[in-house]
Formats: sequence, structure tokens, C-alpha cells
Amino acid sequence: MTNSIEEKTLLGRRIVKALEEAYPEAVCSLNFSKPWQLLFATRLAAQCTDARVNMVTPELYSRYPTVKDLAEAELADVCEIIRSCGLYRTKAEQLIAGARVLLTEFGGEVPREMEDLLRIPGIGRKTANLIRGDVYGLPAVVADTHCIRLSGRLGLTEHKDPTRVERDLAAVIDPEKQNDLCHRFVMHGREVCTARAPACGKCVLAEFCLSANK
Ligand code: SF4
Repeated sequence: MTNSIEEKTLLGRRIVKALEEAYPEAVCSLNFSKPWQLLFATRLAAQCTDARVNMVTPELYSRYPTVKDLAEAELADVCEIIRSCGLYRTKAEQLIAGARVLLTEFGGEVPREMEDLLRIPGIGRKTANLIRGDVYGLPAVVADTHCIRLSGRLGLTEHKDPTRVERDLAAVIDPEKQNDLCHRFVMHGREVCTARAPACGKCVLAEFCLSANK
């Protein structure tokens, strides 16, 4: 494990540079056109694939084109639309409750401050950071499963708890690079450094990865 903050910062810069070259486009794989749609699409993506969420959201957002429409939706109708995303009843309840909170407490807008985002039902730090980074362009570490796995393998953190991984990365990744790096971790985690069989032989990070070929 690389130890000092300085060493990890240098390692982080090498990782950022290599992944920027490998994946010039750093984009969120969830489709959305408005911030509140990204907020709720991210909630739907819990224990589901982004591809599946992208199949469901067109109908959801065509049926409920505004936050107010979703806030007034019937639970059974939302359940039916999002059923294939899994945990659909809880997710439907949180989508409607979340839309009501946006409407009553934030004027129908998605807030930018972490403590405000965390007041929205079903929204945790991961989603809050995604919003802060993708919508507001703020430094934000989205500690999802790919970020946690790759950060550990690469030697940027010893932790698996999302909050601690977020804290560790925030300390060593340059702020303006954090958000895009997390998107690139997702791409690299899907294509190369998969959970079951990391393809170290064709990995652009192998030269300085702590876990290469192990
Ligand atoms: S070298 Fe292997 S373990 Fe390290 S990031 Fe690449 S694929 Fe993952």
C-alpha cells in the first residue's frame, strides 16, 4: 500500500492522466435532461443496472414531466412503470416523497448543498455527490461499487466503506478531477477492471497498480 498523502496524490495524478487518455469522454451513463431526472434516475439505479434504468425513465418522465406531476403521482402507477428496476415499491415511495420535498422545501429545484440533498428521501452521499459534480460542477467523489473496487486495487484507499473511500479520495485527487475520475472508474471497471476477472494484461493502469496481475 502506498502510504503518504504525497505518494497517493502523485499516484492519483498518474491514474487521472492515464484514464483521461483511455476515456476522453467522461460521462454519466444515466440518461437525463433535467437535474431532478438525474436525481431520481440515480435512486432507481440502486441494485439495478444503468441500462435498465434508461429503459424505464423515458416512460416515467413522459408520464410525469415535472416535479409537481411526480409529487402528485399515484403510488401504484409509479410502481407499475419502474417495476423492472427491483425494490420498486420502496423506490416508488421515495420518488414521490422526494418530489414532494423538492417542491415544498426547495421550490421544485434540486439543491446543491450536501446537507440539503441528504434531506431528500432515498438520497445518500453517493447520489448527492453525483448531483454536486454533474449538475453543479463541484468537486465530488461518487463512491460507488466501481470506485471502491478500483481505488482499493490501485492503492488509493485501504477502506471499503463508501464514506471512508470518499474521504480518502477527496484528500488525494485534485478537486477539479474528482468527478470525472469517478465516471472513468465506472467505464474502466466495466470494461477492464471487472469485479471477477480484472484484465490486467490490457490495463492502462497496470504499470503503477498495486494489484496488477495478482
Ligand atoms: S492492473 Fe489489474 S487490478 Fe489494477 S486497475 Fe488494471 S485491471 Fe484493475
